[in-house]
Amino acid sequence: MQIFVFLGAPGAGKGTAAAGIAQKTAALHISTGAMLREALKKGTPAGLAAKSYMDKGALVPDQVLVDMIGELLAAADPDSVFLFDGFPRNESQAVQLDKLAEQFNANVKAAICLDVPEATLLKRLGGRRVCPVCGAGYHVESLPPKREGICDVCGVPLATRADDKPETIRHRLEVYGEQTAPLIAWYEKTGKLRRVDGSGEADATVEKVLSAMNG
Ligand code: AMP
Repeated sequence: MQIFVFLGAPGAGKGTAAAGIAQKTAALHISTGAMLREALKKGTPAGLAAKSYMDKGALVPDQVLVDMIGELLAAADPDSVFLFDGFPRNESQAVQLDKLAEQFNANVKAAICLDVPEATLLKRLGGRRVCPVCGAGYHVESLPPKREGICDVCGVPLATRADDKPETIRHRLEVYGEQTAPLIAWYEKTGKLRRVDGSGEADATVEKVLSAMNG
């Protein structure tokens, strides 16, 4: 089993890049944010426990995520390649991930950090839309659906994520700076960090990330 960790601020394009790579390769895109939103929709205990944190843009307690990732790795095919989008989010989760990897014979191959200036992050987050049924992501300017406001796949009206409101966006960026950004130095020390310029178009970023993964 191989794991690639995607680092970068909210809006850096981790989800878009990971989804693009999953389309072109056999790798599996694992978004812990999407897993939590799905758990919440289903009303599972983990989803309900996560709701108040997600609504504020705060991090959900580590154990909820570590259990989710542990279950995923325990059930995975040994040949799987995972693209982790949104996990780990702090140093304690990174340490737990290394322990899980050892337990399940997986290898954290590299941490891909998407670098994007803050002005671009704010623009991206404000225009982000999501399909409430299939979870497909859109952007009003850079990735519009074929029919305005309607999901190309499901034909239902698109929504704005509850945590993409301006005040929550600000808080998520603060949480990123305080808790997740230190992971860049943490992975640099292990020699696994690869930095990629994520400020351009999605297709270009996918190509850059693919070569960083193979490099
Ligand atoms: P995302 O879709 O990655 O932006 O995540 C949305 C929200 O889910 C975050 O703001 C957190 O509340 C929660 N979340 C996702 N991944 C994690 C994680 N690894 N640790 C803690 N909370 C998380």
